Amino acid sequence: MSVRIGLDVGGTKILAVALDDDGGVAASVRHPTGWGADAVVDGIARAIGDVAPSDAPISIGIGIPGQIAPGSGVVHHALNLGIDELDIVAAVAARVGVAPVVDNDVRAAAVGAASALPELSSLAYLNLGTGIAAGLVSLGAPWLGGRGAAGEIGHVSIDPTGPQCRCGQRGCIEALAGGGAVAERWGRPAALPVRDVFDAADAGDTRAQALRTDVHRGVAAAVQLLILTADVDAVVLGGGVAGLGSRLSDPVRDLLRTSASASPFLRSLRLDERVRTAPDGVPLGAVGAALLGAAPDVAAAVPSIHAATAAAPNPEVAARG
Ligand SMILES: [Zn+2]
Repeated sequence: MSVRIGLDVGGTKILAVALDDDGGVAASVRHPTGWGADAVVDGIARAIGDVAPSDAPISIGIGIPGQIAPGSGVVHHALNLGIDELDIVAAVAARVGVAPVVDNDVRAAAVGAASALPELSSLAYLNLGTGIAAGLVSLGAPWLGGRGAAGEIGHVSIDPTGPQCRCGQRGCIEALAGGGAVAERWGRPAALPVRDVFDAADAGDTRAQALRTDVHRGVAAAVQLLILTADVDAVVLGGGVAGLGSRLSDPVRDLLRTSASASPFLRSLRLDERVRTAPDGVPLGAVGAALLGAAPDVAAAVPSIHAATAAAPNPEVAARG
């Protein structure tokens, strides 16, 4: 079989992996991400060259921030990469001779999480980074939505009196719990601003405590929204902010339990028990991209999980879901 190569293209680094036959990481490499379409494609081609075997066929999957219409291979609005519009499938194919499967980075990480948590038949991967978005996976196949925008829940407003969001609304989940918004409201330079806020809150700073409460209630609202919408088996917390571990997940579970206490219906859904944290030490985005790259029918053009299932996705990917 082909060697499955996956890339997670982020704002600061490109991480590439090659999977072994069992889905483990056989090789990996990390390069800084350049700025602009040409530099990003250069970095991708270089990373592929570093992990690709010289003597075997390869498949390639790429997770990249930005909007990708299902089946198009064109990424739009990857603003933190300096890309406005790029036919990334054509550009990478021209460089390495193999057409990649390209999907949104959060959705790729969701597929990686599903392969790392095979006991779950469905999950939402809630990416808590500078911004907030989720990827939905059922039976190993990502739910794309009609325009590839499924899971963009960061701009659901949960508090009309809450802080101003960059999207123009008030009290969006992202305005409360997104790392970028928290850093802006906190206003104190720090390498890890949300951690800095949590540390200051622990030390008794009341302004930090209010910001921390907003992070917790924003994440709790996102979990509730994802479960009530898609009834996924679990919501997996991932992304940089999820690195706070139980300092994030325990209060989120408490809030979910409290909000359900008055509602037999919500209680029956056991929201708090369905919060999971992403497994440590697995490059979920790159692994998920590699799985998508090996199952192009699932990733490239299928607008819904039902259609994806009917199209018989790569059985290995499906079995991992
Ligand atoms: Zn917003």
